[in-house]
Amino acid sequence: MAMPTHVKTLIIGAGIHGLSTAWHLAEKLKAQGKGGGQDILVIDKTAIAAGASGIACGVVRNNYYQPAMRELMALCVEVWESDPEAFSYHPVGYLQISPEAMREDVATIHAQQQAIGYDSAFIEGAAESTAYMKNLFHDWQARGITSVLHEKKGGYANNTASMYGLATKAENLGVRILTGVKVTGFRTGHSSDAVTAVETDRGVIECEQVVVGVGPWINQVWNMLELPKTVTIKDARGRLHHDIPMWTYMALEEGTLGVDPNFLKTNDGAMPPVIHLDTDAPLHSDVDGALITEEMWGIYYKPDFNFGGIQGGAMPVKVEVPADEVAIDPYGPESPEFVVDDNFAHMWCSALAFCHQRFEGQIGHYKNREPSGGLGCFTPDSFPVFDRFRENVFVIADSNHGYKMIGVGKLVAEELLGGTSALLEPFRFSRYAEGKLHPTSHSPFPWS
Ligand SMILES: Cc1cc2nc3c(=O)[nH]c(=O)nc-3n(C[C@H](O)[C@H](O)[C@H](O)COP(=O)(O)OP(=O)(O)OC[C@H]3O[C@@H](n4cnc5c(N)ncnc54)[C@H](O)[C@@H]3O)c2cc1C
Repeated sequence: MAMPTHVKTLIIGAGIHGLSTAWHLAEKLKAQGKGGGQDILVIDKTAIAAGASGIACGVVRNNYYQPAMRELMALCVEVWESDPEAFSYHPVGYLQISPEAMREDVATIHAQQQAIGYDSAFIEGAAESTAYMKNLFHDWQARGITSVLHEKKGGYANNTASMYGLATKAENLGVRILTGVKVTGFRTGHSSDAVTAVETDRGVIECEQVVVGVGPWINQVWNMLELPKTVTIKDARGRLHHDIPMWTYMALEEGTLGVDPNFLKTNDGAMPPVIHLDTDAPLHSDVDGALITEEMWGIYYKPDFNFGGIQGGAMPVKVEVPADEVAIDPYGPESPEFVVDDNFAHMWCSALAFCHQRFEGQIGHYKNREPSGGLGCFTPDSFPVFDRFRENVFVIADSNHGYKMIGVGKLVAEELLGGTSALLEPFRFSRYAEGKLHPTSHSPFPWS
């Protein structure tokens, strides 16, 4: 395909957000009788699904302590459910299994799920929780659990397959997707701050509006746009915290136990919900019984034919160097630096055995020859920033929440056409200065 020199809407990044925005924008233009996606171009420096969306575990859930996140996720689940086949989506549901320290938080989540009509069940009490889990898995043996939130909707999707599903939908509406084109800078007109053209390693493309959906590369593109490298944050008591770095990185730790995925069916032979367990019970090695941790810890896992086993992860690890010094490329499993090590395998497999007797002694099946995991880029409060900058540049920076957020592109498309989305409003950049922060929970994960 020849390089266009002018398009109306230029979208940078062919991951979940860039592709979903392209598809929804084209759909809305078509509905308005304005053609479709003919004037929308998606460019990606590598390929469709080359970033975080292509390696994500793929979990789709509503379980968030923050009301704004839950409402947004309910919309996203609707989009996943709109075409499960195209998105390779498995609506198996989701379990949040928690210790006493999290019970109240999760009870609040359940109450608010009821209020927005999101189907879920909440089980409270140690004995009741164990009985509920044993009813699903006869060999359930986790300790220190006093509540179970069972979301009947949600589940997981297959990462790359869903990106190709989205790309096909966009292309069918006339959107062009060009890969192997890297953005290197932005041009501005004389009379305003707006971007008039995007510089790439294959030439300059003039455009009327830009959408940035570059996942873990956001720090680079943010710098190109000359946006602030630090922010001032007003906390709940009105105190100001200055010079907080806008972006920090964490390494997501995930892996696969290479057993038959059917190894983790429920008692009645069905594929189980995605399981997420947090606990403050001590974790001991399944190899030699040694103490691994006495701190609060958590894991998630699911049987997955795409990954070829039981796939999942644990808490992310903070990358302790400034964002500008983090080597994002080569990304994901190709990174020499940010893939999981034997400590993760030991912890995660021991944690699986903590949950189910069937996993005891299975660590030898861990796929340690296949590197896994990858970087995520986080905002100062670990929640997304969805906002317009430089007048005509819409930045979708999901703070690593985002594979499940397939619906954000729908809302961004509405805003590109002049609307304002109430669901996106709590995620504006101005919330830091205005002190309109999201509540935080007791979960050991930065994204709950
Ligand atoms: C290991 C791991 C597991 C995860 N699991 C889950 C999960 O289970 N559920 C969930 O909801 N989220 C999960 N996430 C988070 C989720 O994957 C990301 O938040 C989401 O995929 C980001 O989507 P994106 O479209 O913003 O970016 P990406 O999918 O990263 O796509 C960005 C694209 O931009 C391109 N790009 C970058 N710079 C340039 C440039 N200069 N010029 C042109 N193109 C460029 C890249 O090549 C890339 O293809 C996980 C993340 C990781 C790392």
